[in-house]
Amino acid sequence: MAYSSTAKKAVQAGIELAIPHEMSTPEWAETYRVVDRGARKGRWSNETVPFLVEIMAAADDPLVHEIIFQKSSQLGGSEVINNIIGKRIHQSPTEIIYCAEKEDKATAWTQESFDSMVRVTPELQRLISRKPEENNQKYKAFPGGGLHIVWATSPAELSSRPAQVIAFDEKAGYKPTKEGDAVKLGQARQKTYDGEELTIFNSTPRRCDCSMPNETCGDISHDFERGDQREYYVPCPHCNELQTLKFGGKDCAFGLKWDADAPESPWYLCEHCAAIIEEFDREEMLSKGEWIAAKEFNGVASFKINQLYSPFVSWGKMVTDWLEACRSALKLETFTNTVLGEVWKPVEQIEYEDLSWNLEAYPAVVPPGVLVLTAGVDVQKDRLECEVVGWGKDHESWSIDYKVFHGSPGIEITNHDPETDDLDTEPLSSVWDDLATYLMSSFVGVAGQTFRIQCVGVDSGYLATTVYKFCKRYAAKRWFAVKGMSDPFKPMLSKPTLSGRNPKVRLFPIGTNAAKDDIFAALKVGKPGPAYCHFPDRQPYNEDAHMKQLCSERMVTHTRGGRTYRVYEKVGPNVRNEALDVRVYATVARVILNPNYDAIAKRRLQHTEPADAPEAIDTPAGDEPPKNEPPTKPEPKKGGKVISFRSSRFRR
Ligand SMILES: [Zn+2]
Ligand SMILES: [Zn+2]
Repeated sequence: MAYSSTAKKAVQAGIELAIPHEMSTPEWAETYRVVDRGARKGRWSNETVPFLVEIMAAADDPLVHEIIFQKSSQLGGSEVINNIIGKRIHQSPTEIIYCAEKEDKATAWTQESFDSMVRVTPELQRLISRKPEENNQKYKAFPGGGLHIVWATSPAELSSRPAQVIAFDEKAGYKPTKEGDAVKLGQARQKTYDGEELTIFNSTPRRCDCSMPNETCGDISHDFERGDQREYYVPCPHCNELQTLKFGGKDCAFGLKWDADAPESPWYLCEHCAAIIEEFDREEMLSKGEWIAAKEFNGVASFKINQLYSPFVSWGKMVTDWLEACRSALKLETFTNTVLGEVWKPVEQIEYEDLSWNLEAYPAVVPPGVLVLTAGVDVQKDRLECEVVGWGKDHESWSIDYKVFHGSPGIEITNHDPETDDLDTEPLSSVWDDLATYLMSSFVGVAGQTFRIQCVGVDSGYLATTVYKFCKRYAAKRWFAVKGMSDPFKPMLSKPTLSGRNPKVRLFPIGTNAAKDDIFAALKVGKPGPAYCHFPDRQPYNEDAHMKQLCSERMVTHTRGGRTYRVYEKVGPNVRNEALDVRVYATVARVILNPNYDAIAKRRLQHTEPADAPEAIDTPAGDEPPKNEPPTKPEPKKGGKVISFRSSRFRR
């Protein structure tokens, strides 16, 4: 059943909530608030954003102890916080804490949001102290109270002062810290106000890391579920039936629809009468809308809304954003969070059975669609394992070959003296030469054209010095040492460091979690197209063991400092996972390479053979070996040639 909320009706009827003779927050905003920037510039108007009225009014309801707002971007979520704080300062002053995700976000909020609100809102300007010690980046004093600005990365600040009102902004971005949990530390400070405290959680959702029922990571979507779960229902202009606005999608009978050749002009199909709702109908629908709760009220008023409601974003913009987002898992995640206002659930586990039917007969070693090749290498005690992966438009991938080179990769040299030992002159064991020969060979496409491996990631987690030596020798070919990092929050690729002493090589740190998220999301794609993974119908792919290795890990969550984080772990004690690791290194090699698929496709069409390096790489001249040359000898060192890396490649 649905619980229709009373707060908005009360406001509409002009009844003042909370204490008699005290204005409600929406009334205060309408009467006093001035906005000095953006699309909402000028006097605050509740009419423009009618869905924010009830959220603000909840701050005046003595029965509400928590307000939770799960939202997309561009909906005025931070203005809700500003209005609640502004009204408190003016009408019922008290101790207030504003908590941002990080220090720079706190600075930005103080300067660009709070100070600018005060500057143009005379009632507030009169109240905020002008003394620098009482009006600065971290503190604003006013008669009867104060506003403290803190951030979640140093939560100890939160434990030093009591507060009646705490606003946690962009809460889903808070990370666990050694000092503890910002939310818990903050809420502990509200005890003095027994029963009269108010906490506001405002956030775009991010990702939910939970793998077990009843578990809750820090995402705002769990907070929404704790509350009475209100969603904004609007009437169809044709059949008058109430509904929430949903993005829908290709296979959905309602929601946003568009012509493939005019995605910027979509329309909306009513889920009840299937009539076309135009974007110009939206304003009136919003004004007639109401929040309806899915659960009984328990002191926590929770609200959820997406960008379809935003008067500041056109539906056409949403569709073009969607088409762009379909190009990669990372973009799709951002779209899900910032446009749909929904949490992103990374794929937790891939079932082997779901993968085994992916096998297909390739018409050539390198099937059509492949534009570049990368490889990943895993180092084991008695062998090297290597996968060559072909990549095409939108990161569609084709496994080209999987090879195991038997033989000892060498003994780790741990106590060598970098001054006297010259590792460069010491030979690598023969299994490395076998690998090098293979990595330098050509792979043939369907029209007889040749492909060479453009970038290789070699794991240096084991036998690091030996791997450095190998990579040093072949650095000009873009064969790089990579290393999985245990930090669960690391991006897939970070800037390389110079590692080892003799030789010094470029070592690329890998965010293993992020890389496996990407691979699992790709393996989950059900049909050829963006991100889909193709596998040839031959050995070793048609052997259970190989595909099982790809599915050898699952995501699990652990708790540290009261907060959960996730890592990938093997599904069983004696499970082998080399194929998954090797795919991680080949994927990272692709990210290092950052291929411009369109440009490569164009050049391939113009028969520029062999495949040139992608646009983004400054290729040292002559690093492509001539075809079929037996590359048994170490490459001569390229004096002074340095591959330059543009910093943009590491932007995530
Ligand atoms: Zn979760
Ligand atoms: Zn309808």
